[in-house]
Amino acid sequence: MRVTILGSGSAGNCTLVETKTTRVLIDAGLSAKQVRLRMKAMGRDVGKIDGVVITHAHGDHSAHAQSYAQAFCTNVYMTESTRRNVRFHAEAALRVYGANSAFEVGDLAIEPHAVPHDAPQVALRMRDEHCCVGLATDLGEVEASLVDHLKACDVLMIESNYDDDMLTRGPYPEHIQRRVRGRLGHLDNLHTAELLRELTARTHTVVLMHLSKKNNTEEVARAVAQDALSTKDIDLYLAQQDSPMSVPLSRTLTLNYGLDASERNSTCSI
Ligand SMILES: [Zn+2]
Ligand SMILES: [Zn+2]
Repeated sequence: MRVTILGSGSAGNCTLVETKTTRVLIDAGLSAKQVRLRMKAMGRDVGKIDGVVITHAHGDHSAHAQSYAQAFCTNVYMTESTRRNVRFHAEAALRVYGANSAFEVGDLAIEPHAVPHDAPQVALRMRDEHCCVGLATDLGEVEASLVDHLKACDVLMIESNYDDDMLTRGPYPEHIQRRVRGRLGHLDNLHTAELLRELTARTHTVVLMHLSKKNNTEEVARAVAQDALSTKDIDLYLAQQDSPMSVPLSRTLTLNYGLDASERNSTCSI
C-alpha cells in the first residue's frame, strides 16, 4: 500500500491511497486541478482512480465531489446522511456506504466507524494484505470504540486541530469557539494526545492532521504529541495544508525496532 496526503486542513482535504491494483481518493476538498498538480509533484501518475470516498459533507471534504466524478471518471462513495447534504448530481457514479459497514473498492478494504461531529462523519480504517492504515479527522470526542478501531492500525493519521489556549485567545467569536470545543467539534492537541497514549506496539507511525492555522502551531501540536509518545517507539509526522507528503508505511530496515520488528510491515510498500 502507498498513502499520499495531498492536503490536510480546513482549506481542503484529500488523500490518495494506493494498493497494488486500486487507487482511491479519500475526500474531495481540493480542486481536481490541485489533485493533478500535487500528484504530479509527488511523482504519481494521475492515471485511473477507482473511487472517491467522502467522509462527511463539510466543504473542506466534499466540495469537489461532483467534479471528481467527472474529472476522474470514477464512482463516489458517501453515506446516505452525507448524500443528503452535498450537491452531487452524478447519480450513476454515486455509491452509498453505511457509516459502520465495511466495504471494498477493488482490493482496498475500508472499515468506516461513525464519530461525533456536526455533520455525520466517519473515521476510516483501510487495509490491503500487508498494511492497516487509520484516518480520523473532524471529530469532537474520542469514544472507547474508536480507540479499539484505531489501535489495530500500523499507521494512524489523526486530527490534532487546535490548542485550547490559542483558541481562547484567537480570532474566533465565542459561539464558534463553543462549536469547535463541543462534542460535535474538533479534537484539540491534548485529547489527541490521550488517544496516542492508548496506542500499542502495533502502530509504528502517526501523522497529525487537520491542524488549525489560526488556533494551533506545528511546534505546539508536535510537542504535545511527542510527550504522549515519549515512551513509545512511534515515528511522528505532520501533514500540511499546502504541500503533499508521502506517508511512510514501513520503516527502513536499518532502524532497531526491538523484538516485534518482524511483525512490522517490512513488505508494506508496493
Ligand atoms: Zn474538516
Ligand atoms: Zn468537518
